[in-house]
Amino acid sequence: MSEPVSMDTIVSLCKRRGFVFQSSEIYGGTGSCWDYGPLGVELKNNVKRAWWRDNVHLRPDLVGLDASILMHPAVWKASGHVDHFTDPMVDCKACQRRFRADRLDGTPWVHYCPATKGNKFEIPAGEPCKHCGARRTLCPECGKGELTAPRQFNLMFKTFMGPVEEEAAVTYLRPETAQGIFVNFDNVLQAMRLRLPFGIAQIGKAFRNEITPGNFTFRTREFEQMEIEFFVNPLDTIEGRPADEVWHERWIQERFAWYGRYGIRPDHLRLREHDAGELAHYAKRTADIEYRFPIGWSELEGIANRTDFDLKQHARSSGKSLTYFDEERKTHVVPYVIEPSAGADRSVLAFLVDAYREEEVRGEKRVVLRFHPDLAPVKVAVLPLLKKRPEIVRVAGEIRGRLARRWVTVYDDTAAIGRLYRRQDEVGTPFCVTVDVQTVGDPQKGEAGDGQVTIRERDSMEQIRVPIAALEAVFAELFDGAAWSGVAGRYPAAQR
Ligand code: ATP
Repeated sequence: MSEPVSMDTIVSLCKRRGFVFQSSEIYGGTGSCWDYGPLGVELKNNVKRAWWRDNVHLRPDLVGLDASILMHPAVWKASGHVDHFTDPMVDCKACQRRFRADRLDGTPWVHYCPATKGNKFEIPAGEPCKHCGARRTLCPECGKGELTAPRQFNLMFKTFMGPVEEEAAVTYLRPETAQGIFVNFDNVLQAMRLRLPFGIAQIGKAFRNEITPGNFTFRTREFEQMEIEFFVNPLDTIEGRPADEVWHERWIQERFAWYGRYGIRPDHLRLREHDAGELAHYAKRTADIEYRFPIGWSELEGIANRTDFDLKQHARSSGKSLTYFDEERKTHVVPYVIEPSAGADRSVLAFLVDAYREEEVRGEKRVVLRFHPDLAPVKVAVLPLLKKRPEIVRVAGEIRGRLARRWVTVYDDTAAIGRLYRRQDEVGTPFCVTVDVQTVGDPQKGEAGDGQVTIRERDSMEQIRVPIAALEAVFAELFDGAAWSGVAGRYPAAQR
């Protein structure tokens, strides 16, 4: 297994090439908030689009929803978030920094070692000091202050609905998108005349006042989720097993495969079962899909069997029936629900990290993001070999305009061709089209152009000559999944 790229390398590439910027940077930045730049917004939209297409459009048993962020406060009481959506928090009495009590052992710590006249050491998470053998008891950040006893801290952002800031107007920014699905269960069921099993999918912002956000976009206070609630008849069985358990298994497999389909290397993904102690009180079973982030193996998506907990809670709390009429058995049932819950931002980060490669090409370092073509922010870059030749620039501009109607296509003439290729490699553009003298000819010398351009493929760096008139058909094939080698074999190689 290759060494993962460092988070610093990814953060710096993201800033330099317009993927992700620190929020409000000119004011010193806000902790844990990030803005997606011109390439980042394309990448994130592509991730969300792929997820939506594969789950909502391609499956016959899923429909979509877009619920509001602000909901009736009773939702959060019924869901258990008001009383239980808490993390244990400790404060440093010296520097006042806050930490999650349950994450302290996973944090590197600062130590002033008495065995070395008080020298300062930064010690890796969970390890004792090599010199005096002490383990961390004080603040891991300043190394001096004592920590308070843990207190429970609710992670929901509180706000007020309407112009009066009074207790009765308190509501919350949703900490997950799931509850918007549960409270709309009956609306969707009736409007769409659905039959169990079926799912409702939603992509949207969620907010959590995380005690220790960090690690770039991995843990932020404002983030986007891609969630499915898949409802199953609790009376059904599949091959002798409860249907909810079988569907849970199927969703774990399906979601695991999804990341691989879009390019994540299989040895960078793993499944982790929650043990009994970790399992939420309503969950029958939960498995996390973990990715090997630069910070180590961490959750990318959780897939829980939430039983009938949420629908029952909302039915009890609202007084409305949230049941399904089982025609065959002539009885009302409360469906069980399987919840594949993914983070859009964490997925984007995983796709970025996994796509990153440093290669040596003819003695020079090349950085390339090997994005799946569906995810690549820019699909085609059109480059003029000589920007001083108006004819070349005109033809390149026309090609860009034509391709841009179907695929995100950019034009760049701000450097020599070698550097332009490297720039596109670094942002993961699968194909470059180069217009040169041969394409347009040289009227002064009475030479006619051949009307052909060079297509260069990102990963192999192979180049072929293709007639301008065939470009759209060639890209349609390539973006529809045709292998480069098959398409390239039909055209002559370009002279480099
Ligand atoms: P964690 O244990 O990392 O705090 P969680 O188990 O609380 O995550 P869930 O409530 O299962 O997370 O949320 C589903 C998904 O939403 C996560 O797998 C993750 O991809 C994403 N997510 C959750 N919290 C954050 C956050 N603070 N920043 C970015 N993404 C998040």
